[in-house]
Amino acid sequence: MIRPILKYGAGTLHEKATEVGTITPDINTLVNDMIDTMYAAPGIGLAAPQIGVGLRIFVVDISIGRDPNGLLVLMNPEIVERDGMQLEEEGCLSVPGFNATVVRASRFVVKGRDRSWAERTHEGTALLARAFQHEMDHLDGALFVDRLRGIKRDMIVRKIRKLTKAGKW
Ligand SMILES: [Zn+2]
Repeated sequence: MIRPILKYGAGTLHEKATEVGTITPDINTLVNDMIDTMYAAPGIGLAAPQIGVGLRIFVVDISIGRDPNGLLVLMNPEIVERDGMQLEEEGCLSVPGFNATVVRASRFVVKGRDRSWAERTHEGTALLARAFQHEMDHLDGALFVDRLRGIKRDMIVRKIRKLTKAGKW
């Protein structure tokens, strides 16, 4: 089921999510909904807080469904290694219409549980590394906007405030 994606300003997006205890039918349904919602958007990643659930789960597929092995589901993810630096434009389904250049590690290794509760380690470079870091941030209540400094950040926040006031956000 496709669920509504929360936008910048919605409570859950700005709060630290809690760990998943174990797989339950509800968690399974949630993961299915996250996958449906990500592909429908379409997006290359989605974190549970984006659909209003404060749990440490994200889904990523940088192929947006083209690669049958492209879909990754990770729960309670932890950073294993990070190195290098990349500077690319980044956006977010929860901040529609805005993009900014965000500094990220160029290589990122993450471990967590998959949907059968097996421990998995994934290594990402370039876009996949960026997606991992972006989704991990969501689980700590941070959006890419929070990674920006100074004028660029203020400009986006001000525009969002204006849109909110006008009832267009
Ligand atoms: Zn996002």
